[in-house]
Amino acid sequence: MSLQERIDQTIRNVPDFPKPGIQFKDISPILENPKLSEEIVEEFANYWKGKIDAIAGVESRGFLFGFPLAMKLGIPFILIRKKGKLPYKTISHKYDLEYGSAEIEMHIDSVKPGMRVLVHDDLLATGGTAGAAAELIRMENGEISGFSFLVELEFLNGTEKLLSYSKNIHSIISY
Ligand code: AMP
Repeated sequence: MSLQERIDQTIRNVPDFPKPGIQFKDISPILENPKLSEEIVEEFANYWKGKIDAIAGVESRGFLFGFPLAMKLGIPFILIRKKGKLPYKTISHKYDLEYGSAEIEMHIDSVKPGMRVLVHDDLLATGGTAGAAAELIRMENGEISGFSFLVELEFLNGTEKLLSYSKNIHSIISY
């Protein structure tokens, strides 16, 4: 079975979470399978090797594969967190959600000018979160090398929001 088929069979689809009409892609069963998790990191590493200088992972599921990937590639991992969580000086960016808005932050000394940064999260839905992360990297004069996701929900057209930052948008599995 291909890696994609095994991921597909392992992800748990939870209907109507967190609200009616949303089918939540729960990756918890993947995390309970260390061999599959290792193969996922390997797949990401083969794709991004040599193309990036750092990985910015989006809280919190973006940390799960993002940090092991950064260690495997021998490059820094940068935390992007919800407002109020990072202890040192931060820059922040506010973005719109379907209802209301959200704000994310990054430490001011994480991205160096010209650094080639990959934005990573577990799942691409509308692209709002990954796009906001890209804004933070731009504010620090980093170069956005691409976007990386384990899962992409293609029918939500999230890539459209991201193409102005980078054309290199890679997901292991799409629905
Ligand atoms: P978005 O900003 O719309 O691209 O949403 C992406 C963020 O929301 C990611 O951090 C995902 O973990 C989470 N997310 C959105 N939709 C789902 C879904 N159907 N299943 C699991 N996670 C989701």
